[in-house]
Amino acid sequence: MEGVLRFKNTLTRRVEPFEPIEPGTVGLYTCGPTVYNYVHIGNLRTFLFEDVLRRTLKLFGHEVTQVMNLTDVDDKTIRGANEAGLSLREYTDRYIEAFFEDLDTLRVERAEHYPRATDYIPQMVELVGRLEERGHTYRSEGSIYYRIATFPEYGKLSGIRPEANLAGARIDADEYEKEDARDFVLWKAPREGEPVWDTELGPGRPGWHIECSAMSMALLGESFDIHTGGVDNIFPHHENEIAQSEGATGKPFVRYWLHAEHLVVEGEKMAKSKGNFFTLRDLLERGHDPVAIRYLLISVPYRQKLNFTFDGLHAAEQAVERYANTLRRLEHAPDAADGDLPAGEVRELRAAFRGALADDLNTARALGVLHTLLRRVNTALDGGGIGREARQELDAALAEVDAVLAIGPHRENTAPGVDAAEIERLIAERAAARKARDFARADAIRDELRERGIVLEDTPHGTVWHAER
Ligand code: AMP
Ligand code: ZN
Repeated sequence: MEGVLRFKNTLTRRVEPFEPIEPGTVGLYTCGPTVYNYVHIGNLRTFLFEDVLRRTLKLFGHEVTQVMNLTDVDDKTIRGANEAGLSLREYTDRYIEAFFEDLDTLRVERAEHYPRATDYIPQMVELVGRLEERGHTYRSEGSIYYRIATFPEYGKLSGIRPEANLAGARIDADEYEKEDARDFVLWKAPREGEPVWDTELGPGRPGWHIECSAMSMALLGESFDIHTGGVDNIFPHHENEIAQSEGATGKPFVRYWLHAEHLVVEGEKMAKSKGNFFTLRDLLERGHDPVAIRYLLISVPYRQKLNFTFDGLHAAEQAVERYANTLRRLEHAPDAADGDLPAGEVRELRAAFRGALADDLNTARALGVLHTLLRRVNTALDGGGIGREARQELDAALAEVDAVLAIGPHRENTAPGVDAAEIERLIAERAAARKARDFARADAIRDELRERGIVLEDTPHGTVWHAER
């Protein structure tokens, strides 16, 4: 089973073997952040699940085209920009920049595309136009709504049937005139203090749900392989995306829907009012290691709730250290003539590691296998050492661990064709610029290095760098 990935599909409620529409290549759409603030560690749990998914797909030989949207026009970004007295673009630019910094800090691989909603208004307008032509919409007071009664399959993802929502408190029907409380808005009429686009639909701005349908289909096609998000996205967001996309094209929209359960803090929902609300920056300020944060956030399989505790973070810090120590020991150990670690055993553990990932990304089991491997390595190094064949197997196994989990020690400051001294100089210049609050210069340095394939990580012990693989 090692070669075939299996995923639990929210749509079918079953664990299914993964088969892409086009063999070897995968279209992956991951709902991105609303860029009105710093993302919190709950959001990051979901983004890290998506990173492990992407890396696992690649490990199993798939080429991945990942899209992550940046929601830069919605109620929250508009309110934030107005309060800050900035244009929507200026306001959201800041948080987009911060978001990418957080991704780098947590070693999240970059997606192929990060479309901003405001750059895809023509595609949204076109999609609403198609829905109008096919009789799925109605207009009321300058806004355009999706008439759910025209899409009999509505509810197939979430299992929430429309009838059940008629009196539902979660459907916000007060702002606009809808015929039916369960209908949702596609295009919003202009309102005081809101940005307006003049389009063939009339003036207004897009609703949130149409953004993801339009951007995913523009970049991945009308039918694609995998769509993900947190469980809160299942209803109504993803249910509405299906109604919009399939309503417009008449084709199946997405084959596999994967949803991450939420992160809770010390057993409670994370909320600003409870004081248990954390951004990545909050944790770094308290001196925690980003690699340990990554470890903790990926340590629980994505379909289970993750209970964030400081005890858990402490344990993650120890696990990461143990891994780094073992790698360091290995680096300095000469090959033994014979050794105490049979190569076959390493091969089996490597297969078990892949098997755990293939089993709907069971990261807890994968980490368990890693720790068994580390224990065996340490015992062998305490005893008769490790022979050449076992060492080769080990290098291959650890390369796979690193490729998917990326929880190894901060990389050595060397890379082919790179002048380490110059990079250190630029890092020092960036630190000075940040101290002087010259964030434009600091960001320019980060961008310049990134263009050269050098990624910076801000850690409690200063900034470190590594070459992008
Ligand atoms: P948002 O910026 O609110 O659209 O959220 C971005 C992503 O984070 C979405 O995929 C959400 O489902 C996800 N998310 C929000 N809250 C949590 C949480 N507490 N735990 C895990 N994921 C979350
Ligand atoms: Zn979305």
